[in-house]
Amino acid sequence: SETLTVEELAAKLNKEASEIIKKLMFLGVMATKNQDLDDDAVELICDEFGVEVEKEIILEDTDFDKYRDQDDKAELVERPAVVTIMGHVDHGKTTLLDAIRHTKVTEGEAGGITQHIGAYQVENDGRKLTFLDTPGHAAFTSMRSRGAQVTDIAVLVVAADDGVMPQTVEAINHAKAAEVPIIVAVNKMDKEGANPDRVMQELTEYELIPEDWGGNTIFVNMAAFKHEGIDSLLEMLQLVSEMEELKANPKANAFGTVIEAELDKGRGPVATLLVQNGTLHVSDSVVVGSTFGRVRTMVNDEGKRVQSAEPSTPVEITGLNDVPQAGDQFLVFSDEKKSRQVGEARQQKHIQETRSETTKVSVDDLFEQI
Ligand code: GDP
Ligand code: MG
Repeated sequence: SETLTVEELAAKLNKEASEIIKKLMFLGVMATKNQDLDDDAVELICDEFGVEVEKEIILEDTDFDKYRDQDDKAELVERPAVVTIMGHVDHGKTTLLDAIRHTKVTEGEAGGITQHIGAYQVENDGRKLTFLDTPGHAAFTSMRSRGAQVTDIAVLVVAADDGVMPQTVEAINHAKAAEVPIIVAVNKMDKEGANPDRVMQELTEYELIPEDWGGNTIFVNMAAFKHEGIDSLLEMLQLVSEMEELKANPKANAFGTVIEAELDKGRGPVATLLVQNGTLHVSDSVVVGSTFGRVRTMVNDEGKRVQSAEPSTPVEITGLNDVPQAGDQFLVFSDEKKSRQVGEARQQKHIQETRSETTKVSVDDLFEQI
């Protein structure tokens, strides 16, 4: 890589070469004014003088898309749909998520379903579906504000005894803005006063028109509480999923989004990642939002240790240097050094963005020929 001599750096920093030499001596390096300094040494000295180095060369390249594998069409294979459950408070989102999970998750393991990693997969007729276990609105707002799009299909839960409410409308708007197909789950059909026709009538106002009425929105009547209608819903989800022709390349370097993350006392930063393309492996070098690291351990939604995770699979990982945010995107690099470089640059940028008064000098400026 490029180098600068002590003298050149001194000129850039408006210092005497002797001052630089003195700093280097303090750092245990004997240098002359013609000594070549590498990136790290330059940064160290700048730091000593309170000048922050902005690694513009690397920052420009931090756009993930530049590093993402170009999908070879031949490598694309079907992947499970990622489903988000949305709807007004108390209309039954959590109950539905639990019901789906209980219907399909293999029973028999000690302790049953204890793991909560923010997302889970179920198998239906030998085909998988991935459910985001986070409140739909939060998933959409926090993720979309970061440019992440994780949902393939939205299930809109509407209580048959309550009808369309403000958050129902909000949910519709989120799903429409994201151009995600909506399946309507008319819930609480067991309740007295359940009126599915009214729900359908009200939803026509939002262009969600049932097939019977000449539209193309799928409506499923159910009672999540009693585990009724779950199979029909899963069947419909599979149908829509097929129509969407969701594909990914399992051979690519993994790319995806953080579903949730936290600092665990014992394990350090823990993040649930949804792999959206490629396959994530233990010991992969990964940049996540403004942090980075190497995947140390990986656990699936059943709490089992796994070595790899394919497209549309949620996994919980450890091994990151810091806690990322929900909605942050992650990308694996084949080259660990590159991963570290990009990771550090993003971290640096993040720190700079959260500070106000700092002297900045770019490496480009520093290396510019005098
Ligand atoms: P959320 O706020 O959308 O997550 O709603 P919850 O899943 O917490 O459900 C709110 C309330 O409705 C709870 O007391 C549930 O037990 C109840 N509930 C959910 N689904 C049904 C259903 O199908 N039938 C009846 N009768 N109650 C239900
Ligand atoms: Mg809930």
